[in-house]
This record gives sequence, C-alpha cells and structure tokens, in this order.
Amino acid sequence: MHRILDGYARFFSSADLGEYRALAGGQRPHSLVITCSDSRIVPEELFDARPGDLFVLRNVGNLARLDEPSVAAALDYALLHLGVKNVVVLAHTDCGAVKASKNVDHLDTDGLKRWLGAEFFQGEDSEEAGKAAGLRQLRRVEQYPLFKKMADEGSVSASLLFFHIDTCALEVYEDGAWSVPERLALCE
Ligand SMILES: [Zn+2]
Repeated sequence: MHRILDGYARFFSSADLGEYRALAGGQRPHSLVITCSDSRIVPEELFDARPGDLFVLRNVGNLARLDEPSVAAALDYALLHLGVKNVVVLAHTDCGAVKASKNVDHLDTDGLKRWLGAEFFQGEDSEEAGKAAGLRQLRRVEQYPLFKKMADEGSVSASLLFFHIDTCALEVYEDGAWSVPERLALCE
C-alpha cells in the first residue's frame, strides 16, 4: 500500500490542479479504449492522453464480451452518454489471456474459466493468436446493435490496434491487414 500512496504523493506534488478543476463538472472523452488489464499496457501513456480524453475499459484479455454487463455497460455509456467517436480495441504481445487460451490448464480458477473459457488460440504463435483474438473482439463491437446503428449513421467507428511491448511498435488493422502506419488519426 505504501507504494500506492507514495505514488499519489508524487502525483499530487506536480498535478495540474486547474486541469482537474476544469474537468470536475463532466467528461467528454473522444474514444473508448478496450484493453487488457496487463500492467504493461497504459493507454493514456501510449496515446499521450490527458485526463478526460479516454474512457477506458480494461479486463483480462481485452475482451469485448458484450454478454457481460460490465462490458455492455461501458460500451452503452460511452456511446449514448459520452458521445465517443472511436471505439478502439487495443491488444498486445505476450498476453497472458492469449497464452492461457493455448494452455487451458492455466485456467485454474472458476473466475478464469468463466471469463476466458470460451476463448481459443488461433494462429502459429501468440502474436498471431493475439491479433486474431483482438479481431474477434472488434467484430463483437461491430455487431453490437447499438454500435451498428450509430456506425451506420456515421457517428462512431471502431478500430483494432496491436501494441508490441518489446519495441513499442503499434500496428493497426485496416482493410483486412495489419500495418504500421506513419501516423494514426484516432481522433476525428
Ligand atoms: Zn493481455
């Protein structure tokens, strides 16, 4: 606990209190980021975002399981009440959830089985499988009726990104293929 509170003390000593004060009355994030609970994945840092910029849903394996209330609630709220313009699924290398889908004996608790039991390993290695798993989440978002309706109206879009922890490279899935674009326009 002391590391948490020491961290807060360091944060507070340099925090831009005016920035927080300005946000106290509400938020207007431009994107919903669905990403993994993995401690190495920090969306605010990766996307150089400030408080108020990103609405973030993190869970083990960055799953967009819209049959789960916490996932559906985050997407509903982001779309209907916050008016996000982008839904970004951010997957990553060396994902424990992806690796567990190959070695199901890693799913050794009820919670892990219930959360990850329906996932599967698709591809030659964990990078391919992580990308394939990310694509399945993107499809879930795209097929969600509320998202679909708003996307058809042109008010929101969804994208899929893959972060390489070892090199900090970011790949984007576009038109059926992965590439590293020179520039990403997440915010429209
Ligand atoms: Zn992960």
